[in-house]
Amino acid sequence: MSQKVIGLIGGMSWESSSEYYRIINQSVREKLGGLRSARCLMWSFDFGEIEALQHAGRWDDATALMIDAAQRLERGGADFFLICTNTMHRMADSVQAAVRIPLLHIADPTAERIKARGLTKVGLLGTAFTMEQDFYKGRLKDKFGLDVLVPEAEDRATVHRIIYDELVQGRVESRSRDAYRKIIARLIERGAEAVILGCTEIMLLVKPEDSAVPLFDTTFIHAEAAVERALS
Ligand code: GLU
Repeated sequence: MSQKVIGLIGGMSWESSSEYYRIINQSVREKLGGLRSARCLMWSFDFGEIEALQHAGRWDDATALMIDAAQRLERGGADFFLICTNTMHRMADSVQAAVRIPLLHIADPTAERIKARGLTKVGLLGTAFTMEQDFYKGRLKDKFGLDVLVPEAEDRATVHRIIYDELVQGRVESRSRDAYRKIIARLIERGAEAVILGCTEIMLLVKPEDSAVPLFDTTFIHAEAAVERALS
């Protein structure tokens, strides 16, 4: 069976990109057999450069870098591509418009899996950009009819701080896991039937046993969806 070439825009952060690479290759091995692995290309950013633009609100400059990355993958021969971070889907439409190869949007396979389980009211954890701006919640609501709950302001600040001060820097702290557990429990109290781990590093910290409702890990779901498309 020949495989499509998966393009990955990574490095945001590489802590999660290495998970994408691992999951994609493991999944191809499971599906095709012991010696088989994925055909893929990754453009990996210096996350320091991206993070500085995000926190300065310089989204146009960040969009230009993302377009450049997608064009590199297209020139390199990718058949379709992934943005390996939820946050940087903020400019997904502009990036898609700048290349001919299709983007596999991270929210789509995630929402499809939630709907397949018959769930509609979901909590969302991610960066402040993902939790507070409309680009992600809006897609979940408008395209999939999901009812999205985000944590209260203080909890959002905690979730965001732990992502940037710890997880993207490779630090996994048990007190931060406790903080996430409590925040997840408060979302459940407010009616969440499931929680989206809407930042690709959260899966390094939080596991299914940390939640009383199903967790939807965007890193795993996105990587699996890439393999399904590559083999289809
Ligand atoms: N990987 C994270 C996400 O999924 C955060 C890092 C970033 O801002 O890209 O949103």
